[in-house]
Amino acid sequence: MEKKKVLIIGGVAGGASCAARLRRLDESCEITILERGPHVSFANCGLPYFIGDVITAESKLVLANAELFRERFGIEVKLHHEAMAVDPASRSVTVRHALTGEDLVFPYDALVLSPGAAPIRPPLPGIDLPGIFSVRTIPDSKRIREWIDSRGATSAVVVGGGYIGIEMAENLLHRGLSVTLVEMQNEILPNFDPEMAVLVRQRLEERGCRFVLGNSVASFEGRENGSLQVLAKSGAKFDADLVILALGVRPETSLAREAGLKIGTTGGIEVDSHMRTSDPRIWAVGDAVQSLNIVTGQPLVLALAGPANRQGRVAADSIAGRNSEFRGVQATSILGVFGLAAASTGLTETALRRAGDSDFESVHIHPMNHVGYYPGATQIHLKLLFRPSNGKLLGAQAVGEADVARRIDVIAAFLQKGGTVEDLAEAELCYSPQFGAAKDPVNFAGMVASNVVDGDMPVANWENLPGGAFLLDVRDDDEFAEGHVPGATNIPLATLRQDFSALPKDRPVVAYCKVGQRGYYAVRFLRQNGIDARNVTGGILTWNALRETRLD
Ligand code: FAD
Repeated sequence: MEKKKVLIIGGVAGGASCAARLRRLDESCEITILERGPHVSFANCGLPYFIGDVITAESKLVLANAELFRERFGIEVKLHHEAMAVDPASRSVTVRHALTGEDLVFPYDALVLSPGAAPIRPPLPGIDLPGIFSVRTIPDSKRIREWIDSRGATSAVVVGGGYIGIEMAENLLHRGLSVTLVEMQNEILPNFDPEMAVLVRQRLEERGCRFVLGNSVASFEGRENGSLQVLAKSGAKFDADLVILALGVRPETSLAREAGLKIGTTGGIEVDSHMRTSDPRIWAVGDAVQSLNIVTGQPLVLALAGPANRQGRVAADSIAGRNSEFRGVQATSILGVFGLAAASTGLTETALRRAGDSDFESVHIHPMNHVGYYPGATQIHLKLLFRPSNGKLLGAQAVGEADVARRIDVIAAFLQKGGTVEDLAEAELCYSPQFGAAKDPVNFAGMVASNVVDGDMPVANWENLPGGAFLLDVRDDDEFAEGHVPGATNIPLATLRQDFSALPKDRPVVAYCKVGQRGYYAVRFLRQNGIDARNVTGGILTWNALRETRLD
């Protein structure tokens, strides 16, 4: 009997994991990966660090090569083979050999599309000038390295302040270049709310990165000395020896479209929970597909390696006749910048507001990564979003020097399972002094949020203080003297009981302290004495962060 032919287009995160899993499930099928580039299974996520000389050997970026696939797994990898067209009727793919120009036809019984996503390159004047790069492949990053080295480049403009833009800024600074980052929005990192993203921006600013926010690039011009000039819409001009475009990515769907496969409303290939497309013999995975956002129930396209790998596994299961289902995504991600980590999962406040969702509340906490008495404790800034009506988790963001991933990963796991703030408060997590606290930051965030859900601690938000509120600073006198929120009256927590008569009884009182804890104690006292009191979680630390997000 002829072997079942499984053809996979794209040999990196989704495609390679699908191929390897399928072989583990089915020894009998013939698996072929078509990859248009010179590498299979390479580490796209490592490219910025290769450019930044943190990873110095190109070989470290190649996780497996064609020989390994053949010898270990019996999987044929065809490098430099670009799929040009899929014909579902004859179940075949027309392929062009990138080096010889030869056209070939590969038949299939099952086809998997994992072509990824292409960097966005808007049709701006001058965008194709030499020295303007996108970062997607190992050859891209080699070209950037060679450009820097051969020209002795000293300055760069990075366009776009998402993950890749920020990682590129860090790595170019690491190489000693001066870096200007231009971002259209008023703050970097759209996966974070501004008061969290600003902490990352400040770290980069401390290392010399210059930010141009709320401004977009209009065009590029070449100069006589071979360098570039970047012209912004505002009229500002920036000189640079190279430009990195990091404006986001777009799913590669041309093969799917031309084959007549259904494309989702978000522009990604439509798939079911088994990663099957509208053609029952074609599966699609990774950056090219439309996924289900498990928090909103809405479709979205998401370019992250974790979902691509998991989807590859689900597609393999489905091809092998198993019934595995992909659960959907929640955009859990992390980036590091000069020792600072920023991680997020689920929805941001910005996204909730944009969607017109008003049944949400947020709390900010600023605990240490482990108990303060053990040497080396550092602060974690954590924001938790949830539904006050039922306590359901909606999202979380954290920024800090250490153990940030662990906190967001735990919250992400609960979020995927539809968990609540009470689940976080009750989570049993490991503890000893050098690793955490008996009341871990995750528990702490859950407890603070539970106080909101239970009505014990109504909260106020710096961006949205109740009208006519009396602003009460319950920190000590010396802290107040060092700086406070304009319009605040200082009554330290320690004297609140004796100074109670000084408080208005006919309007809301909004209490704040440094991080929110003394504010909570004040609110409990005031509410038990008949005052409509609310706490600003995150305290003046969050207020300071928000102030930094304002554009001049
Ligand atoms: P890819 O891994 O992009 O693979 C697609 C492959 O298909 C490519 O090799 C391409 O050459 C090939 N291909 C496309 N069309 C054809 C065709 N017609 N014929 C043959 N071959 C074709 N994600 C994270 O979660 N964390 C990170 O830190 C992170 N950092 C990143 C840093 C950079 C610089 C980049 C570019 C991406 C990063 N990502 C990160 C995203 C992550 O790499 C992707 O989400 C993931 O690789 C998607 O897997 P995929 O299989 O869908 O596509």
